[in-house]
Parts: sequence; C-alpha cells; structure tokens
Amino acid sequence: MFIIGAHLSSSKGYSAMLRQAQEIGANTFQFFTRNPRGGKAKDIDCSDVEEFLKLKESENFPVILAHAPYTLNCCSDKEEVRQFAVNTFADDLKRMEYTPGQLYNFHPGSHVGQGAKKGIELIAGALNSVLYSEMTTTVLLETMAGKGTEIGRNFQELKEIIDKTELSDKLGICLDTCHVFDGGYDIVNDLDGVLEEFDKTIGLSRLKAVHLNDSKNPMGSHKDRHEKIGQGNIGADAMARIINHPALKDLPFYLETPNDIGGYAEEIKLLKTLYD
Ligand code: FE
Ligand code: FE
Ligand code: ZN
Repeated sequence: MFIIGAHLSSSKGYSAMLRQAQEIGANTFQFFTRNPRGGKAKDIDCSDVEEFLKLKESENFPVILAHAPYTLNCCSDKEEVRQFAVNTFADDLKRMEYTPGQLYNFHPGSHVGQGAKKGIELIAGALNSVLYSEMTTTVLLETMAGKGTEIGRNFQELKEIIDKTELSDKLGICLDTCHVFDGGYDIVNDLDGVLEEFDKTIGLSRLKAVHLNDSKNPMGSHKDRHEKIGQGNIGADAMARIINHPALKDLPFYLETPNDIGGYAEEIKLLKTLYD
C-alpha cells in the first residue's frame, strides 16, 4: 500500500486532520504537536481523540507522524534552552500516548559551536531523560541538511546518538529527501549507494518514515529550502525511484513542500501515478 500524506494544520484536532487528509487523497498525515515555535500545547480533546481512533481504524490509516516544534534545541549551550526542550519533549510524549503506537519526529538540534561530539552527548542525554520503557511511541531523529551547526548532517552522527541512548529500541529515523540531498547524499544518481550506506551505518530497520521534498538548492548545499515535487534539483524521475525503491516503498511518505492544501492534493495525485 502506498502510504502518503502531507503536513497539515493541527488547529482543528485529530479527526479534522484525518478528514482533510482524505480530501487530498492521503491516508496519513503529519502535524505539529503545538505551535512550531514552541509554547504551550492545546489540551487534548478526548472525544476528538476517540473519534479519530475509530476513524483511523475504519478508514485504514496505518500510522500518523507528529512533529516536535523545530525550535527545540536539546543540545543548546544554554541550560534553560535545553531544559525547555526536554520539558516540551516529555510533555509531547505523554500526549502521544492518547494515540498509541504512532511516530514522533524531532530535529536533533544545533550544537552552536560546542562541537558535534558535545552536541551528540547532550542529545542522547536528553533522550535518556525523556524516553521511558512503557511508552508506545517511536521517536524519530530527522536527517538534517547540515545548515549552521546542525547535528544529524550525516548518518554517522545519528548512529552515535542512537548508540548513546539507553532505550534505543524506542528510536527510529525519518529520512528527509531535501535534507539528505542538501547534506551531500546523491539520491538522484546513486540512491542504492546512499541506502547501502544508511544500512551499513544505522541499519535500514531503523528507517520508519520519509519526508518527501524536492530541494531548491544543489546537492551538498547545506541549505534546507524545500521545493515542490519535480520542480527542484531532485526532480520527478528521482522521486519516482525513491517512492518505488524496495527499501522505501512500504514506508509512510510525508510532503513538506511549499504548497497550500490544493497543491498537496495535486502532488499526491502525481505521486500516485508514479507509484508502481
Ligand atoms: Fe522537520
Ligand atoms: Fe523534514
Ligand atoms: Zn527542512
């Protein structure tokens, strides 16, 4: 089954997102757990969650992906910034249990000059303080473009975070196509080679989701500017190979392309014609 969705606004709740996903031809969706710049989350509406869980079952939505606020920085050089990230992370994980067994994606963080080694230690430390054995959510580390001092600019850094995390069975990876391309991985001409390297470094069994984005910039630019599918430097042919690759084709794919809701519907339609 082709599992395809887009990033939706969470302002109207879970069941509204599911309905909106269906309207654009999707069978999953991604959403921010709270204002993407951080701040307090809305209280969970139990009747909405109940309706959502019923619909998710009857409408055959295999999995949904929550995205942490992108401003959280678990490896800041400031104690209060790290503490804020950990508190928000822990609160999100508690809230995720209302919808058991789903995915929660976060940006590992930026070491702001402390160096990658220190950054990786701090991120693993944060994970060690928020992950708990009874949780049913899988936490995904997102592959990053390597802009500024971002951690997760290559597979090795993500592997080191996983290795330093005690409850590493709770961890997976979300591969962002724009980010890895900007990070210098040639998914256009050597997708097999990139995935082999991923497998050797991290292990493909960790790969749980794909952010499907084209890139406004050339490979290795470390820029992180998403483009519409087929209109950037990755291109439609490479996108077709990505969604059909044996190691990827059964994963959930999420669009984070610069689109309104109608644009997402068009992209999903296009991707469905490209999916074998
Ligand atoms: Fe992200
Ligand atoms: Fe992404
Ligand atoms: Zn991005």
